[in-house]
Amino acid sequence: MTTSFQNTAAFAENLDANDALKSYREQFYFPEHNNEPVVYFTGNSLGLQPKQTKQFIEQELSDWAKFGVEGHFLAKNPWMPYHELLTEKMAKLVGALPSETVMMNQLTVNLHLLMVSFYRPTKQRYKILCEAKAFPSDQYVLQSQLKFHGFDAQEALIEIQPREGEYCIRHEDIYKAIEENKESIALILIGGVNYFTGQVFDMKNITAAGHEAGAIVGFDLAHGAGNIELKLHDWNVDFAAWCSYKYLNSGPGSVAGIFVHERYHKQNDLPLFAGWWGHEKSSRFLMDKTFVPIQSAEKWQLSNAPIFSMAACLSSLDIFDEVGMNALIAKSQALTGYLAFIIGEINKQKNNCLEIITPEENRGCQLSIVAHGYGKPLYNELIKNGVIPDWREPNVIRCAPVPLYNNFMDIYRFGLILSKLL
Ligand SMILES: *Cc1c(COP(=O)(O)O)cnc(C)c1O
Repeated sequence: MTTSFQNTAAFAENLDANDALKSYREQFYFPEHNNEPVVYFTGNSLGLQPKQTKQFIEQELSDWAKFGVEGHFLAKNPWMPYHELLTEKMAKLVGALPSETVMMNQLTVNLHLLMVSFYRPTKQRYKILCEAKAFPSDQYVLQSQLKFHGFDAQEALIEIQPREGEYCIRHEDIYKAIEENKESIALILIGGVNYFTGQVFDMKNITAAGHEAGAIVGFDLAHGAGNIELKLHDWNVDFAAWCSYKYLNSGPGSVAGIFVHERYHKQNDLPLFAGWWGHEKSSRFLMDKTFVPIQSAEKWQLSNAPIFSMAACLSSLDIFDEVGMNALIAKSQALTGYLAFIIGEINKQKNNCLEIITPEENRGCQLSIVAHGYGKPLYNELIKNGVIPDWREPNVIRCAPVPLYNNFMDIYRFGLILSKLL
C-alpha cells in the first residue's frame, strides 16, 4: 500500500470508504474548530471520549442512587468484583493471562508499588537501567526509589543515550550496557514505546538479555497499551504498568493497569505493600488481621475500586474487545504510513525541512517530527487551524493518528494545513 499512496482528497476519501473500521469514528466525540471536527492527533496523550461512556457512568450513578451501599452487591454490575469485568479484555490487549493483569490506581503509583516487589537491591546488585529521556514521572520514580534505598542516582542509574547526532536508542547499546553491568544490575525499567520519539523497543529480547544478566525486567507501557502488539506473558516480562487514558480512551486520570508474570503469584515471600483489596476474596470481610494474599496480580491491589473511572474504562475496553488489536494494528500501519508519505510529499516542496525521528521499523502509530527552522510558533499555528498535535520541548511535534477514530482524510487535511503554514 505504501508505494501507491497519493496526496489527493479523492485518494484519502477512497481509503476511508474502504476502511473496515470506519464506523468506529462515529462512536467518539471530537472537539470542534469552526464547527468542524478538529484533526485530533493526540490520542497518545488523552484519547477521545467514546459516546457510550456516559451511559456506563450513568449506570453506576443510578445504581448508587438506588441502592446506596448495597450497590456493592445489587448494582447491575456489582461494585465488589467490578474490576474483574475489565481484566480479561485488558489482558488480551497486552498479551497476558487474565490472572496476570488487574486495573488499579494510577500509573506512577503502580510503578512505585511494583518496585517495592521488584527492585530489591543488594550491595552488589543495585543498578537500574533505563532509557535516556524517559518520561519525567518515570525518572522521578527511579531516582526516588534509588534514594529511598540509600543509593546515589548519579552512580546507580544507567541511562542509555542515543548516539551523537541521533534521536533514537540503538538496541546494541542497550545490550552492551546490560553486559557491561551484569554483575551490578538489579532492574531494567524502560518505556516500551518512548513517549518522545515513538521508538518501540524490542521487549522480548531486552527481557531475555536482562534475565541473562540476572536482572528483573519491567516496562512502562503508557504508550504501548492499545497501540502496539504486546505479548507480555510470552516475552517472559517480569512486570509492566500502563495508564488507560492515552490510547485506551478511558478519560483523564482514569484507572491504570498492571501486569505481573504468573511465576510470581504464589511467591508469598516477595515483599509487597498490602491493602485489603489484595486479600483473598472469600475471607476479606472477616476483617482478620492476617493478610492472606490473592494468588494473582490482584494481590497488588490496595483499595476498593474507583467505580466511575472503571466504568469509563469498561466502556472503552468493550470497543477494543470488539475490534481486536490485529485489525487496529493493520489500520494503524496504513494510517501512519500515509502520514509519513504526506510528510515526504511536503518535504519535496519545502526543502526537506521536516524530519521524522520515529524509526520506520520500530513504531506504533505516533510520528515525532522535527520541523527544522520552525519552533513552537508552528505548533501554535496548527492549533489555530484546527489541528491538535502536541509539542514537546525542545523541538518535537508529535502526531498520533489512532486507528479507532482517525481517518485518512484527517491526514490529508493535516498535510494541506501544514504545507500552507511552512
Ligand atoms: C503518560 C505517562 C505517565 C503519566 O503518569 P501518571 O501517573 O498517569 O500521571 C508516566 N509515564 C509514562 C511513560 C507516560 O507516558
